[in-house]
Amino acid sequence: MFERERTRHRFTARPATVTTVTDVGDYVRVTLSGDTFADFASTGPTDHMRVYFPNPVTGELVAPVADGDDGITRPAAQTFGRDFTPLNVRDTGTTRSVDIDILRHADAGPAAQWGARVAVGDELVVVGPRGSASAPQDAERALLVVDGTALPAASRFVELLPESTDIDVLVYGDVTEDAARAYLGDARRYTVTEAQLELTDEARDLAPDAGTFVFAAGEASALLPLRRYLRRELGLGPAQAAVSGYWRTGVVAWDHHAPIDPFDPED
Ligand SMILES: Cc1cc2nc3c(=O)[nH]c(=O)nc-3n(C[C@H](O)[C@H](O)[C@H](O)COP(=O)(O)OP(=O)(O)OC[C@H]3O[C@@H](n4cnc5c(N)ncnc54)[C@H](O)[C@@H]3O)c2cc1C
Repeated sequence: MFERERTRHRFTARPATVTTVTDVGDYVRVTLSGDTFADFASTGPTDHMRVYFPNPVTGELVAPVADGDDGITRPAAQTFGRDFTPLNVRDTGTTRSVDIDILRHADAGPAAQWGARVAVGDELVVVGPRGSASAPQDAERALLVVDGTALPAASRFVELLPESTDIDVLVYGDVTEDAARAYLGDARRYTVTEAQLELTDEARDLAPDAGTFVFAAGEASALLPLRRYLRRELGLGPAQAAVSGYWRTGVVAWDHHAPIDPFDPED
């Protein structure tokens, strides 16, 4: 149960030009495209790509370059790469485009600073996604626990889970119930709960059971007790409960491969 079909994509570095900039709630939505996007693909809800931003001081864009058809060469100089969720991949005639939603946040780093000033014609480099893992097709229920950085991934679950899966969304951090509903839209039914308590107590109230797939992502420290509850108390393994730190308070360019729980680094 909860199997997710894996697809590998060509792994390359794609120079990207901004073609559209739109305000979407707490995000700036940036549409990216370029000649090498013709085979850009993203079919999984937890897909992510590394987006390389200009040096926030000098404005210089230093980024990996494509190495042949499949592979990249990383520069020796410092880069400013951050992870984002690909959204709305579209054919544009000769190539494709993809959106990223950049959350506005205080203490803005290179990504959020760039997002605050972005204009059509600006340039970035996109690496990935390396592959996609489909949404599970056999879950009776899905519980999506997300803050603002993972609401884009939640929107992809809402789009990609089958109609037969009941979806409960639990939002935490600065996300309100109204903002989550506005962002996720009304194309299908789901419930939204805005966390008022500690996340574990909120999740306990939503009672995930043997048929529930759980995706939890966002600020990493807040997810630690929730992860312990899912893993140790409920005994849910990573195939049933995917828990991922998308950023960490006080840490610049948090590496989401770092364990949320240093005493249980199974991720
Ligand atoms: C798989 C994956 C997918 C992601 N998808 C998205 C996405 O679609 N949209 C999106 O907006 N973000 C997404 N993120 C999170 C994003 O990569 C981080 O928030 C990133 O740190 C932002 O870069 P920055 O340059 O603005 O800040 P950084 O330079 O990394 O950090 C500067 C400071 O800001 C703090 N900070 C970072 N993010 C936040 C925040 N959200 N709120 C408050 N303080 C913050 C840091 O703790 C640090 O103190 C994703 C992360 C992962 C791992």
